[in-house]
Amino acid sequence: NKQIVLKEYVTGAPTESHFAVTTTPVNLKAPEGSNVVVFKNLYLSCDPYLRGRMSAVHREGADKTDPEFTPYRVGSPISGLGVSKVVDSAHPDYKKGDLVWGGVTWEEYSVVENPKGIFKIPDPDVPLSYYTGVLGMPGVTAYFGFYDVCSPKKGEYVFVSSASGAVGQLVGQFAKLAGCYVVGAAGSKEKVELLKSKFGFDEAFNYKEEDDLDAALKRYFPEGIDIYFENVGGKMLDAVLLNMRLRGRIAASGMISQYNLEQQEGVHNLMNIVYKRVRIEGFVVLDFFPRYAEFFGKVLPWIKEGKIAYVEDIAKGLENAPAALLGLFSGRNVGKQVVEVARE
Ligand code: NDP
Repeated sequence: NKQIVLKEYVTGAPTESHFAVTTTPVNLKAPEGSNVVVFKNLYLSCDPYLRGRMSAVHREGADKTDPEFTPYRVGSPISGLGVSKVVDSAHPDYKKGDLVWGGVTWEEYSVVENPKGIFKIPDPDVPLSYYTGVLGMPGVTAYFGFYDVCSPKKGEYVFVSSASGAVGQLVGQFAKLAGCYVVGAAGSKEKVELLKSKFGFDEAFNYKEEDDLDAALKRYFPEGIDIYFENVGGKMLDAVLLNMRLRGRIAASGMISQYNLEQQEGVHNLMNIVYKRVRIEGFVVLDFFPRYAEFFGKVLPWIKEGKIAYVEDIAKGLENAPAALLGLFSGRNVGKQVVEVARE
């Protein structure tokens, strides 16, 4: 059973040398009378929050009671979210062939007693990898983060950072469905093209080519920004604060530019929150999982009717998982980064 193991805790930027690919024996039979389920892992989700778990201690302010945010154990396989298939089960709620998504260890097969945080795949008639993205955690983040936290109104001006990623590409499309004007920032020419041609953003720009982010935002939002969906933090947030409109909203979903820093960067333009009566609201997707059915009922038809598109970047083979995960921090991924461990 191939596994991805954390070799040592990370300070600063993680590298492939922090991980090892190891092999251990596995028994694929669930013992009679136990509550064991044996999963074959198909798709792993590469998510920026996993960086927090590679550090030796919790981040300041992080929820210490939630196992999803606790540091990994050095020498053990790492875990995250993914899609799996039941290959054997002695548990009454699972049977061979069931497809599930939820918490998963980064290994080929997982033997789990009394699985928790696992959901049956409600519709297998879409690519199964979608349950790591548009129909999984990033989809729920984009959906409630935009519609609930941002309270959008038709005609408003929306800005999205890390706009071509797992979450950002959806926020932009949800904003268009809500009748907003939407501009995205991303880190390459290819991503900028994708935003405009595939996801229907009104405008997009490569933030890496802009010396002055404030000037860039003024170019794209001469009347200012009503809604900012914050994925990156740091300098981008500072520039956005100079361009918010009266009673604008900022949904703070994440700040990936800060995740590899030992000390967070300072943000300077905070008085604009006062002048412009801006509401900044942070949120964590876990709070919205109880509303998954509501999300699914809306988004699945949008996918099937072609109202929203979803771009994935699929790395093949478990041994390529560390590189795929680390690529999130250099912007190597184009769309949702997934690792395909097995097709079925
Ligand atoms: P993405 O698919 O967007 O991948 C990460 C992207 O971040 C990279 O491709 C890169 O894109 C960009 N990036 C990396 N480093 C930097 C940097 N230093 N400055 C600016 N951009 C950078 O990831 P997700 O869509 O999965 O996540 C997006 C954000 O949403 C993250 O901040 C994540 O933590 C957050 N999130 C929050 C959740 C919540 O519950 N609040 C749940 C899920 C995600 P580019 O080439 O454009 O620079």
